[in-house]
Amino acid sequence: MKKLISERDNKEKEGKGNADMTKTGSIPAPNFIRNIIAEDLKANKNEGRVITRFPPEPNGYLHIGHAKSICLNFGLAAENEGGLCNLRFDDTNPIKEENEYVKSIKEDVRWLGFDWEDRLFYASDYFEQMYQYAVQLIKAGKAYVCDLNADETREYRGTLTEPGKDSPYRNRSIDENLDLFESMRAGKFDNGSRTLRAKIDMASPNLNMRDPVMYRILRAKHHRTGDKWCIYPMYDWAHGLEDSTEGITHSVCTLEFEDHRPLYDWFLNELNVYHPQQIEFARLNLTYTVMSKRKLLELVEHGYVTGWNDPRMPTISGLRRRGYTPESIRNFCDRIGVAKRDSIVDIALLEHCLREDLNKSAQRVMGVLRPLKVIIDNYPEDKVEELEAINNPEDPNMGTRKVPFSRVLYIEREDFRDDPPKKFFRLAPGREVRLRYAYYITCVGVVRDEKTGEVIELHCTYDPKTRGGDSPDGRKVKATLHWVSAAHSLKAEVRLYDHLFIEANPGEAKDAGDYKSYLNPDSLQRLTSCRVEPSLAGAAPGSRYQFERQGYFCVDSVDSSDDILVFNRTVSLRDSWAKIEKTQKQKS
Ligand code: ATP
Ligand code: MG
Repeated sequence: MKKLISERDNKEKEGKGNADMTKTGSIPAPNFIRNIIAEDLKANKNEGRVITRFPPEPNGYLHIGHAKSICLNFGLAAENEGGLCNLRFDDTNPIKEENEYVKSIKEDVRWLGFDWEDRLFYASDYFEQMYQYAVQLIKAGKAYVCDLNADETREYRGTLTEPGKDSPYRNRSIDENLDLFESMRAGKFDNGSRTLRAKIDMASPNLNMRDPVMYRILRAKHHRTGDKWCIYPMYDWAHGLEDSTEGITHSVCTLEFEDHRPLYDWFLNELNVYHPQQIEFARLNLTYTVMSKRKLLELVEHGYVTGWNDPRMPTISGLRRRGYTPESIRNFCDRIGVAKRDSIVDIALLEHCLREDLNKSAQRVMGVLRPLKVIIDNYPEDKVEELEAINNPEDPNMGTRKVPFSRVLYIEREDFRDDPPKKFFRLAPGREVRLRYAYYITCVGVVRDEKTGEVIELHCTYDPKTRGGDSPDGRKVKATLHWVSAAHSLKAEVRLYDHLFIEANPGEAKDAGDYKSYLNPDSLQRLTSCRVEPSLAGAAPGSRYQFERQGYFCVDSVDSSDDILVFNRTVSLRDSWAKIEKTQKQKS
């Protein structure tokens, strides 16, 4: 199990500086990769160029882990004068890759706020060049065509404790290899019947160096090259060449590729081509979710979620639909920093970054999720008042709006208790509370369902002298409730989300094996009889609001319509991160 670490922990261990610097967005926090680049620039390595890339494989939608890599790579380019970052699709496996993914990845990178300008590349554009490089290695006696099938190749490979065995085809002549490789390309052999392999060392302690496969025979339609090729380069052969071809100076990747670096080095040295510098960093893991594309695809394909953009998914498109802002995700990526050691970040930190942003930008409105009818007995039947409400106390420039008040209202069911426990200061029989922006009201009667005894309606009186929410006689009340006018409010559906998993680290939980057994059965709750204030009529899909006292919500971009408004709860108001941070501070 990975150690659960906090932001501060991480920064201290990696020798990072003042976390506040990242918050302003002006000076990026130092990290070990920034330090390497700064040193390189000082030494005028690469003639002072900084060229990075983000190299997704188009076999799924991007997730928050990819956002870390995107922010890092585009960030490193942006903060160095003349720095560039390419977007490159690593499309070497036609079986799993699709144009839909290419499209979504471009959309997500753009939405996050990054621009690859004219530097959009595809590994498939280099297939011919890669083929020529392979021929070059064959001519140098460094690659051979092998007739072992997949199982045999695995058997010959050996294990971590045992060396491998040389393939019986290892010592074919250069001419024979050239001829066979050409025939492979020409489609003369069956799928999987032959491979091209690098001739390195079957006894190497590093399994990646045991004559790795460079090409396989595979008849599969590629989303860009169609049926042009029936041999496809393996990832390890292709990846370093792509970086080299594009002149990438700093090839930033995740830790699992550390063991592959000697192989990339070998290929580039044998070919005698430009050699980028590879730097590995720890991938982002987040509590209560999974981040592997294979698992996310499984959740989509088996209907555990409604799609890649389900608001519970850690995908960029899911987070966007949920109501996350690009700013909050970029800020999160800044704050988690970059380390050389695997860890898992508390999802509460991501939510904290979101609240921080929405608190500044989201308009306040009133919405009642579980309505309870309130009748103000002494309020005239046909009177309607327009009360002034503040749009955002954090930002006076956002102005005010009018909210209608009338005799019949809805308040939140949980804001009333028949028999209030200690410290419950909200409405109860005989008790006076404030209605936000409106009046003080006192509960004078409770109507119950005859059969079930359930409270179905409250009768109250209001004090006309308290208009706006204050009493001229200085009388205090202990609670302020949100409300809507029954006749003026709009019907809405509200979707409340909880973590997708009940286990903090479902990918690694030991017992029960399958991560899917940790899916949270209550991750989605649909409330279908909500009421929101009339100013929300026609609210644009994706627009974000704070429902006072409830949390941040956004108009669902898929299911909301003119007929029925649908809101996603983006995040509640309660900040669990602030609490976690406080306890951490007390402990240290
Ligand atoms: P998976 O392992 O789930 O298939 P991947 O790493 O293979 O994902 P890619 O499309 O190859 O997915 O990723 C593109 C880039 O994003 C790579 O450079 C990869 O290292 C980086 N990346 C992927 N996941 C994370 C993560 N959780 N944290 C940081 N960077 C990541
Ligand atoms: Mg990958």
